[in-house]
Amino acid sequence: MDEQKSNCDENDSEPTRACALCNCVERSLHGQRELRHFGPSTDKPTLKPSASSLPQPGNDDLSSIGFSESSCLALLDDSGCWVHHWCAVWSEGVKQTDNEKLENVEKAVISGTQRLCDYCKKLGATIRCHAEGCSRFYHFPCSAASGSFQSMKHLALLCPQHIDKAEELGEESWCAVCDSSGELTDLLFCTSCGLHYHAACLEIGATPIQRAGWQCPECKVCQTCQPGEDSKMLVCDACDKGYHTFCLQPAMDSLPSDPWKCRRCRVCTECGVRGIALPGSAQWFDNYAICDDCQRDRTSVCCVCSTTVNPSAQCCCTLCH
Ligand SMILES: [Zn+2]
Ligand SMILES: [Zn+2]
Ligand SMILES: [Zn+2]
Ligand SMILES: [Zn+2]
Ligand SMILES: [Zn+2]
Ligand SMILES: [Zn+2]
Ligand SMILES: [Zn+2]
Ligand SMILES: [Zn+2]
Repeated sequence: MDEQKSNCDENDSEPTRACALCNCVERSLHGQRELRHFGPSTDKPTLKPSASSLPQPGNDDLSSIGFSESSCLALLDDSGCWVHHWCAVWSEGVKQTDNEKLENVEKAVISGTQRLCDYCKKLGATIRCHAEGCSRFYHFPCSAASGSFQSMKHLALLCPQHIDKAEELGEESWCAVCDSSGELTDLLFCTSCGLHYHAACLEIGATPIQRAGWQCPECKVCQTCQPGEDSKMLVCDACDKGYHTFCLQPAMDSLPSDPWKCRRCRVCTECGVRGIALPGSAQWFDNYAICDDCQRDRTSVCCVCSTTVNPSAQCCCTLCH
């Protein structure tokens, strides 16, 4: 069994559900929290359900967020829709009442079918920039990926063009390490506690894949087992997500001394194969940039003279031709 399958064991009997706003499945790396069901409303258009457009679990790199025109309407059917907690709560027009009950989520889903995300340029965007007159919308994962400022207390987003207004929030825009707002564009937003940290103060990067679903050092949980033991946490060098050494397939005995990349972040620079498509036990080279097959090609040997040939050569090297 590979790492991906073990993530989904508990849902094996149910069909794969995806969020009607961000198009990701429940277990996503982007910090949207759990999928919640929202019942049908009376003024929704009649739409045909289509199971074929559902994304597969694990397909949650940033490029799979959002909807193209055709797949967009398939997720709304007579039985309502599924939306992640944070995707719903942050949407324009959605109101939170007692007991975490949310109103107007279906309306948000319908408006999302018409709204392009300013970051990924796909449909399903419902989180609007808080600055007056700004009409930029984002998906929840794209909010962070775009480098926008997010205030969990006010559920307000400021797009990169209006990020200066975050200073007006005072302490809420301060970095938890240096106690100042400093360089606002360098702030990372923790999707669990809402605190901000300068990437520089933590000496980590601030790439879109790191920003989306980021968890601060205090909140970081294993992406495989979720809340659990704090020990033996391995942090991916590319996406900054945490994994227990013992939750990996195959498990690792100790923390490696070299930079480590999670399977989702391993991409072969030669053939483009992704780590998620290979078994967890597959070998990688050059800091997870070359897959096993391509490494073997790199070191292939001429069948005539037995010298090492370069990957583009066929069976015989140029000397033997
Ligand atoms: Zn979502
Ligand atoms: Zn987006
Ligand atoms: Zn704006
Ligand atoms: Zn700082
Ligand atoms: Zn946190
Ligand atoms: Zn774990
Ligand atoms: Zn990663
Ligand atoms: Zn390869």
